[in-house]
Formats: sequence, structure tokens, C-alpha cells
Amino acid sequence: MVGESRGALPHGRDLSDKREGADRMQTAIRRRLNELGLRSRLRARPRLQGRILASAGLRRRLPSAPGLYCPFYHDVPPEYANDLRRHLRALQRIGPMISWDDALAVLSGTKPLTGPVFCLSFDDAHPTWLEVAAPVLLELKVPAMFFLTSGMVGQPGNMTWQDCRDLLAAGFDFGSHTVTHHRLADQDDAAATREFVESKREIEDELGVEIKDFAAPYGHPAVDFGDRDVGIARDAGYRSFATTLRPAMHPGHSAMFIHRQGLHPAWPIMAVRTRVHD
Ligand SMILES: [Zn+2]
Repeated sequence: MVGESRGALPHGRDLSDKREGADRMQTAIRRRLNELGLRSRLRARPRLQGRILASAGLRRRLPSAPGLYCPFYHDVPPEYANDLRRHLRALQRIGPMISWDDALAVLSGTKPLTGPVFCLSFDDAHPTWLEVAAPVLLELKVPAMFFLTSGMVGQPGNMTWQDCRDLLAAGFDFGSHTVTHHRLADQDDAAATREFVESKREIEDELGVEIKDFAAPYGHPAVDFGDRDVGIARDAGYRSFATTLRPAMHPGHSAMFIHRQGLHPAWPIMAVRTRVHD
């Protein structure tokens, strides 16, 4: 089943059998770690996670060849504001940070790709987007897309709709990250459709802008969503669908299968290199 899903990936056609085998192994490891809760426990200790990842960063470098990279973050607690600034400056030394619109123009070939370019996004509904991330982004003139889980907005510990309107007024973009943040792959057709349609409608009603871009919770194909969900997104009026597959993207790749690289601001640059590399 995993092999079937992997084979259906739009950018997977040129993968060798060996690579597919490695991907299947990675998917199996990912599932097992999810079961054991190890991934979430490490995520709760991002400095430690960053140090563990950093050793693997020795074998990687930040990109130098032309490619679109879409790093993304979740929460940016105040103690990590300087770390976020350091990440973004390191990427800006390599290539420009572009908006989601421009990233889609790179994929469609209407905007030339002459080196590494970066398109930043944030997931869920964290109040620190407004309090911590936005000031850093404005200072460094970095555009960003915020993928909002609409059902989390207004809940304790999350953003309010007014927070979202303030971010929008500051020039940032919004997309949908479902209503409930449940794994799409676990939902029947009707429930999955509601995640796309109702989040889009509510965010549009509250913010007064059209919502055209979507990011899948957890984001890994074959584990977290399937071809069905990409189809529902298209039918619901979305023009892009973001995943958490990581390789660089190039003109001709599908906007309905955007690759993104999940980062935590607490990580050293050596750990960033394990996610964002040629
Ligand atoms: Zn999420």
C-alpha cells in the first residue's frame, strides 16, 4: 500500500527502485516512531533535537544550486526570536525569500529560477506568530504564509481572529491547515471534505480575503494524506497543496504537491542543513 502511494507521487517517476525502497523504510520508521511517541518527545525538547540532528548536518550543506525551498516553522517562543533571526539571515545570504505567490510562479515557470530561493510558512495558530515572529520577519523584510487551523483560532493558548487580521494588515498571507488538525488519512470522504471547505469559508469570512492555499497536517504522503485529499482540495478551489516531503522543487513541479522543510528556531544551522540542502 505504501509502495502504491509512493509510486503515485507526481515527482516520484524518476526514482530508482533503490530510492523507493529507502523511502518505504523511512515511512515504516516514521510510523514506528509515531507509535512510540519518540518523535513528539524529541519535538518537545528542540535544543536537544537540534544537537542530535546537527551531527548529520556535517554531511550536508545549505543549497547552492537553483531550487525552491519552503522552510516552515510552528511556534516561535520569545526565547527563540534571535535564533529565528539567525536562521533567516543565514538563508538570506544564499538567496532571496519570496512570497507564496512568487513560489507558485517559480513552479509554473513564469518567474525564472537562477539560484536557491526560499518561501517561508508557519503552521497551526500560535499567538507567537504576531508577538515574536512577525517583528523579526518585518525587520528582515521576509514575506510569509500562515497556514491556519481554523478551529484552533479563539481557543485558549491560540490566536484570535483579531490577531490574524493584524498579521494580514502587516502584509502576510494566509492559507488553510484544516478545521480540526486531524490526520486527513484517518477521515472518511465527508469529514475530509469538511476540513477543506469549512476552514476555507471561515477564514475567508473572518479575514475578508480569498483562501487558495492549503497545508496538510503532519504532511507526509502515504501516512497523513492521500491522492483523494489532493483531489478534494482541487475541487474545493485550492490552487496549492503543501506537504512535508523535503527535496528541492523546480519549474514544472506541481503546486498541488509542494515540498516543505520543517524547522525549529532552536536548532543550530548545522541541523537546518539536514532539512534544507542541495
Ligand atoms: Zn500543523
